[in-house]
Amino acid sequence: MTFRELGLSEKVLQAVEASGYTHPTPIQAKAIPEALAGRDVLGIAQTGTGKTAAFTLPMLSRLEQGRARARMPRTLILEPTRELAAQVEESFARYGRNHKLNVALLIGGVSFGDQEAKITRGADVLIATPGRLLDFSERGKLLLTGIEILVIDEADRMLDMGFIPDIERICKLVPFTRQTLFFSATMPQEIVRLTEAFLHNPVRVEVAPAASSPAAIAQALVATEPGPAKRETLRSQIRAADNFKNAIIFCNRKRDVAILHKSLVRHGFRAGALHGDMDQRARMASLEAFKNGEVDLIVCSDVAARGLDIPDVSHVFNFDVPVHSEDYVHRIGRTGRAGKLGTAITLVTRADRKHVAEIEKLIGRPIAWQRSASFEELGIADEEVAYAPRHERRGRRPGEHHKQQAGGRERKAAKPNRHKPEHRAPERRSAAAPSRGRHESAGDRPVVGMGEHTPGFLLRPVKLKPQVVEEAE
Ligand code: AMP
Repeated sequence: MTFRELGLSEKVLQAVEASGYTHPTPIQAKAIPEALAGRDVLGIAQTGTGKTAAFTLPMLSRLEQGRARARMPRTLILEPTRELAAQVEESFARYGRNHKLNVALLIGGVSFGDQEAKITRGADVLIATPGRLLDFSERGKLLLTGIEILVIDEADRMLDMGFIPDIERICKLVPFTRQTLFFSATMPQEIVRLTEAFLHNPVRVEVAPAASSPAAIAQALVATEPGPAKRETLRSQIRAADNFKNAIIFCNRKRDVAILHKSLVRHGFRAGALHGDMDQRARMASLEAFKNGEVDLIVCSDVAARGLDIPDVSHVFNFDVPVHSEDYVHRIGRTGRAGKLGTAITLVTRADRKHVAEIEKLIGRPIAWQRSASFEELGIADEEVAYAPRHERRGRRPGEHHKQQAGGRERKAAKPNRHKPEHRAPERRSAAAPSRGRHESAGDRPVVGMGEHTPGFLLRPVKLKPQVVEEAE
């Protein structure tokens, strides 16, 4: 199947060719002809499947006839977040390079004035988050009665964020006769109800999430100790990664996003961060730096990263095993996109094994351990002794497995490696060197609290319960 067979206009085909796409993705092949024919489409697909172009390309073809009128946009795209809205705007710029269309963005956190000027001039395409759109409409600055095509994107995410009542209100403000293109990664009951109320005899187009394609993503588990040793494991993994271009690193808690980000920067990595406590400007700047290659690592929380399209990510590292197994599928789906190969590596402590088992159950297959080594073979202690002082530990010293990795790393280091940290000193420090304090170990050994000066009663092993606090934004 080629793009030409889908019935797109010549101008759109030229822009697609200039983007370097040779073949439509499954959602594009199925949805584009139906959308061009004017039918309502219910697309069940997640980010990474090419769904943005599945609605952008037919919209561009259809917009070639007709003109926008002041305050009356011709098409409306609803997105749950500002970042996603900005991404769709970029898609219009890319695929609409041969069209002279006015594209307006209505998102929170941006001044009203500029947005109003664009809408007053007449917008062919309005991309909006629901709150800001209703705000404009209620102030009488915008009329939705000229909408010919309505796109509702990431509907299940809208549900998560409490936007469904807003969506219902907006659907009642646009003409009954408009065409609706509706996309959701999953179909919970509330979303089914919404589609029954607002779509007219839609064609249902469903594609498997990118993550369910085992060929596209090489997945591996890496046994590690918790605490500072885990950060060392991550660093070794990044340095040893094959075909590395860039990586998203996921943490379960936003506090850990900040800690890990700082630690990576301190070790000379070019890393950014993305979490819910950052303001809009800082989030956009972080994302931009990652997209344009200024940094090649970005540390994220699940909520901050969901839905973002970051093309060409070669690696995903799960610094923490996700507690909800579906998050694993979403996380690794950030790589191996649109036919490219990707690698997803998950760091696993003993306490995480239960969650790993749940993930394997969900994806329907076991994930291979890197080097097929068990915790015992790697000398990784049970969690309750992992934090005990050195002289209380039995067997191999924690971190000795990192030494093996360090060997591998040195072999790798002979090759040019742009991820080689600028400051290697802490890595080379001898095991006998004094402690650097709480966060980073001397050599490989984690030093906790007062180290060897800890009073005896504090040294009694205690069973540590894994605490995973879900991020609330
Ligand atoms: P999306 O699911 O819309 O977020 O798209 C995921 C990524 O796939 C984006 O980076 C697109 O640029 C890319 N993409 C979309 N369509 C195609 C295609 N037909 N061939 C190759 N890459 C594509």
